[in-house]
Amino acid sequence: MTRKDRYQFVIDYFSEHAPEAETELLYDNPFQLLVAVILSAQCTDKRVNLTTPVIFAKFPDAESLAKATFDELFPIIKSISYPNNKTKHLIGMAQMLVADFNGEVPLKVEELIKLPGVGRKTANVITSVIDEQPNMAVDTHVFRVSARIGLTLQAKTPLQAEQQLIKFFPKELIHKAHHWLILHGRYVCVARSPKCEICGLQQGCKYFQATLKN
Ligand code: SF4
Repeated sequence: MTRKDRYQFVIDYFSEHAPEAETELLYDNPFQLLVAVILSAQCTDKRVNLTTPVIFAKFPDAESLAKATFDELFPIIKSISYPNNKTKHLIGMAQMLVADFNGEVPLKVEELIKLPGVGRKTANVITSVIDEQPNMAVDTHVFRVSARIGLTLQAKTPLQAEQQLIKFFPKELIHKAHHWLILHGRYVCVARSPKCEICGLQQGCKYFQATLKN
């Protein structure tokens, strides 16, 4: 199977089985998504979703969060990983939104990455989820699943994986492919023991074919 065939196989499979794939983070607007994505680093979406309703009720927009004190926000997010840093990042992010972006979330990667707590991955998530821009956020699931299937070859960093994925996925599918790969990694192609026996990608998966041969 050529690499192009492999991509087509994956696209066909997910188009049929997960046509509506989307983020599992709960949000109502770009500001809420940005808060949730910052909190989700090294943390499960489930835990983030338990926490964000309290934040959103108390700090519904950038203006209110920008005025929050550390001691007000920290207790709300203390059950999330890295609460110290994330508290500072969220307040700093909101302050910069107010100061530089009129309180609105910018939808350009190069502007988003100026915000505290926002790296390339987060900026790619925001722009692809909110605006369907062809930006691929590569987290640990996307990185692992893409390598196993053979969508990426010898990618050493998330950026290398991202560059390979956006080269081969059709532009209009990139925002969706991100969710396909994340959800597949979360529930089927899990880190330690991938559930190959129940996976519909067997025929297109390099890892599975190599395992069969051995
Ligand atoms: S066949 Fe196995 S390794 Fe390949 S994508 Fe499916 S679960 Fe992952």
